[in-house]
Amino acid sequence: MTGSTSQPTAAVIGAGPAGLMAAEFLCNAGVRVTVYEQMPSVSRKFLLAGRGGLNLTHSEPLEAFLERYGVPSPALKAAIDAFSPADLRNWADALGQETFVGSSGRVFPRAMKASPLLRAWLRRLDASGVTFCLRERWQGWRDGKLVFGLPAGEHVVPADVTVLALGGASWPNLGSDGSWVEILERDGVPIERLKPANCGFHVNWSETFRSRFEGQPLKGIALGFDGRTVRGEALITSAGLEGGAVYAISAPLRDVIIKDGGATLYISLRPDSRAADLQGRLANPRGKQSISNFLRKALNLPPVAIGLLQEAALASGASLAAMTPHAIAQLVNRIPVRVTGVAPITRAISTAGGISFGSLDENFMLTGMPGTFAAGEMLDWEAPTGGYLLQACFATGKAAGKGAAAWVKR
Ligand SMILES: Cc1cc2nc3c(=O)[nH]c(=O)nc-3n(C[C@H](O)[C@H](O)[C@H](O)COP(=O)(O)OP(=O)(O)OC[C@H]3O[C@@H](n4cnc5c(N)ncnc54)[C@H](O)[C@@H]3O)c2cc1C
Repeated sequence: MTGSTSQPTAAVIGAGPAGLMAAEFLCNAGVRVTVYEQMPSVSRKFLLAGRGGLNLTHSEPLEAFLERYGVPSPALKAAIDAFSPADLRNWADALGQETFVGSSGRVFPRAMKASPLLRAWLRRLDASGVTFCLRERWQGWRDGKLVFGLPAGEHVVPADVTVLALGGASWPNLGSDGSWVEILERDGVPIERLKPANCGFHVNWSETFRSRFEGQPLKGIALGFDGRTVRGEALITSAGLEGGAVYAISAPLRDVIIKDGGATLYISLRPDSRAADLQGRLANPRGKQSISNFLRKALNLPPVAIGLLQEAALASGASLAAMTPHAIAQLVNRIPVRVTGVAPITRAISTAGGISFGSLDENFMLTGMPGTFAAGEMLDWEAPTGGYLLQACFATGKAAGKGAAAWVKR
């Protein structure tokens, strides 16, 4: 044991939800835990997630829930089985943060933010004896000890067991910058390339469209790509598109763009209306009305949607005003949008890729580095928004903490 007492010691690196969960389990198992974090305060991304209401998990049946991770690795599935959405809700409840199920099935704390939950959790960790070392940037190992860079020098510490919970690479200003990839690759750990997940995309909008509609939402639409359709909302950005529906279709779209350099996405503006109904509503003569006014009245479309139709007509060398009602009706529910790139990972909601499950054992220990465990978004899984991200981070944090506690006490 590294400490002066016989109590085993654990270093948890990264104070996001995964790391704090690992720390909690280790501490409850009688291990002396120190959490190292490079930022001046903990869980900055978790707090940011709270600004959107903090979608903690989802209430759908566990089988359907697990399908959101594609084909989850057996270890991820076992971790979520062992710390399920119901367990997560009970855990939040015990911290005085009752949760509720929203109309979409998503689960939120009643407070609709992360700070009360985080405050209560930190108080409990503190009372259990967990130590926090902030502004310590993990740089790797030297002679079997952990090396941290501090604003003034270096801190080299031994630990009986280590849990890495360093997050992905999105929003690096909040702390998770993916710098761990180089450290682990140096030591021979196989890492799947980090890619943006739940991310935006680039579209070469015309200057007219961009300047007029940047920042405007397209509501109640459906996006179609490669045989999949998702309903929701998209936001026009100066560089392209982002928003809930875009994130939901982002994984297959991203992979095709990385492979082929571009892809065509289809936007349906009135997904609940059949083309024949739309055509019927366009049958009345337009008279002296502008095409925009005519479409606004006939189809109840907002200016941004009409702008998008104009943009698509222009791209195909046509003029919307010269198109037949039949052609417009077809276009309304199948607007092709050429997507030219994936928005940078720094602005993505989450990260795909990471430590491959093949290099972890069933207890989340790196098989090539006995005594080092890993959890959270730095592992190679991905999921849509809807509470699946935090659920997997909490569950793998707990599983890694449990594995680390068993290992250090073996
Ligand atoms: C805008 C936004 C909204 C979101 N909303 C939701 C939501 O509502 N629901 C949901 O399920 N998910 C949401 N997420 C995703 C969720 O916040 C993340 O999946 C989750 O925080 C990842 O947890 P983690 O513990 O694995 O990593 P992180 O929370 O990223 O924590 C990793 C920690 O490690 C530290 N660290 C990194 N490198 C080092 C180093 N070298 N040395 C020391 N410390 C280091 C970082 O500073 C950071 O504090 C959202 C994300 C964003 C960006």
